[in-house]
Amino acid sequence: MLRDFLIGSDYDGTTGNTFAKGPGIITVKEAYRLAIERVLGEDYAEKFVKGGGHRNRSPLEIMKDLVPDAKPDDLRRYERESTNYRIKLLRTQIGKKLPNGKEWGGPIDGFAETWTAVNELKRSHSNLKTAIISAGHTAFIAQFFEHYGLQLPDAMVTADVLSEACLSIPPEEQAKPAVMPMRLARVLTGVSDDAKILYIGDDPTKDRLFAENSGAEFVLVKPGREAESWQEFLMKVENAVNACTL
Ligand SMILES: [Mg+2]
Repeated sequence: MLRDFLIGSDYDGTTGNTFAKGPGIITVKEAYRLAIERVLGEDYAEKFVKGGGHRNRSPLEIMKDLVPDAKPDDLRRYERESTNYRIKLLRTQIGKKLPNGKEWGGPIDGFAETWTAVNELKRSHSNLKTAIISAGHTAFIAQFFEHYGLQLPDAMVTADVLSEACLSIPPEEQAKPAVMPMRLARVLTGVSDDAKILYIGDDPTKDRLFAENSGAEFVLVKPGREAESWQEFLMKVENAVNACTL
């Protein structure tokens, strides 16, 4: 019998190709800038750009950085309004053709094959669970899975889920590399406390630290070697499943 096994994945740059740039494409950074400009004004949009963009931070962390003196309720309102606008912009970009022939927001090389294989394994191993753990947004990520005909994960731990939970802890403790998103993933997928966890992400610092802090084994999606990285991930999944079922 397979021990509870949680497979977690980052989204942007790991699962979906949302960081790609191309003519006529609104990038994630540009969508952030436009949304901040709309909700807070031009000066704040400039501050965001000068501060290096989103840097894989959660929307709430970004807002707190931009408006450090805002009351928590105002901060959430700014975050929600800018998020709604940003997602509206980005949803129109999914499937747009990039110069390399790929689609903006399409699956990262190797993801679809690995995800399909993992979901095959899930059919015979009911305690194998999947989660997307991302500072992104549920509606956008769900659209990605539906658009590309891929099975939805068992849980999505996104900025929306964390925002709705209204945790009375600082934004940075609600986001990777803090452990709270993994705790929620465990709860939402129902795995036991001693579950094996394998996590994959493209941020060599934040995603790796997040895995380490959460007691998970980590696989890095290496730039230019994405398909290999996902194959390495699948091998680890298969080895773990085989080791427990022999
Ligand atoms: Mg990422």
